[in-house]
Amino acid sequence: MSNIFKAEFIRQNEDLDTVCPVFRKIFWAEKKVRKATLSISALGFYEVHINNNRIGKFIFAPGWTSYRTRLQYQNYNVTKYLEECNTIDIAVGTGRRRHNRKDEELPFLKADEIAVISALTVEYEDDTVEVIAGKDKGKRGQIVRVIRDKDRVIVAGVNLVKKAMKKRTQQDRGGIAEVEAPLHISNVAIVCKKCGPTRIGYKLDGDKKLRVCRKCGDTL
Ligand SMILES: [Zn+2]
Repeated sequence: MSNIFKAEFIRQNEDLDTVCPVFRKIFWAEKKVRKATLSISALGFYEVHINNNRIGKFIFAPGWTSYRTRLQYQNYNVTKYLEECNTIDIAVGTGRRRHNRKDEELPFLKADEIAVISALTVEYEDDTVEVIAGKDKGKRGQIVRVIRDKDRVIVAGVNLVKKAMKKRTQQDRGGIAEVEAPLHISNVAIVCKKCGPTRIGYKLDGDKKLRVCRKCGDTL
């Protein structure tokens, strides 16, 4: 099921009259993106752009329904539009939704309200890295998180440190847990299936930038 069912409607703070609000979200892709799907619907007509690329060709999206009972939503494969830093802009105009028929009023929204609901589901590549320096040298694991502004990564099961856990409830006894501490990116190397730890290069394939192994040239 689409993650849109976990999302909530967002709406404009004030009535802009005939001006369309644009809802903007900026986010960083933490790792190499394997697949990204944007699910979106609106009360009113929406038009969505990612990094200034119009997504889809649908005019008058999300399409007509009896809003009281159901609302259509669309899924778009937006993988090729994602970069490291991404801006999503959703413009929502007054649509069929915006009228004065009180009988179509949804229990949680006023009939004249403009709102949008959206979810972006991103699947990342499973990046396996090997630690090439420090106490965990030789250990391998998958990158769990990239801390971009500090040039550090968290690797599953690697660089474990003991951490005192706070009691969260009366019953919770707290205690010591092992958590992964961040590693500097210079201490890890991406693992190529053929060659083992390697360095990353880039190759252009048409307008697509491919990440390749510097040793064997295979895509990573
Ligand atoms: Zn290789």
